[in-house]
Amino acid sequence: MGEKQGAKAFKDYTPKGREKVIAAFTYSHMPYKIDRINSDSEPPSLAEMTQKGIETLSRYPNGFFLMVEGGRIDHACHTKDPTGVIYDTLAFDKAVEKAYEFYKKHPEETLIVFVGDHETGGMGLGIGKNYFLKLKEVWIVSINTYSQTPINTLIMTR
Ligand SMILES: [Zn+2]
Repeated sequence: MGEKQGAKAFKDYTPKGREKVIAAFTYSHMPYKIDRINSDSEPPSLAEMTQKGIETLSRYPNGFFLMVEGGRIDHACHTKDPTGVIYDTLAFDKAVEKAYEFYKKHPEETLIVFVGDHETGGMGLGIGKNYFLKLKEVWIVSINTYSQTPINTLIMTR
């Protein structure tokens, strides 16, 4: 991108040849998705970065390796922030969707691997003697979100 800076320059960038690219948007971690829910500008979403990474690397004829980390999911787990976990997991899911779109175009030569580096914060789907995962009840859970409303209006109903 040369002299261009910021998310707009990133979004406007079109990969050329085998140009080497680096894009850095923060001095440290990406902000949590919930903290930028009403902002489409800075920094780009994990899905946008994934898409741009695929566009850039797929120009190489001998294949490529791309690692995408939804690292803020873990950080939200460390701080026992379930809303942060949910929103960053959904953001990660959108990034996975970009990888899957590429896979659908190149199924014979694409492998997508999902792993969790470790569990943090004790979140689980059932643990101990008195609480067990009840799959029949999980199926009827729905989540409603409203984009223009603050964090505490995340409504879970069952
Ligand atoms: Zn951790």
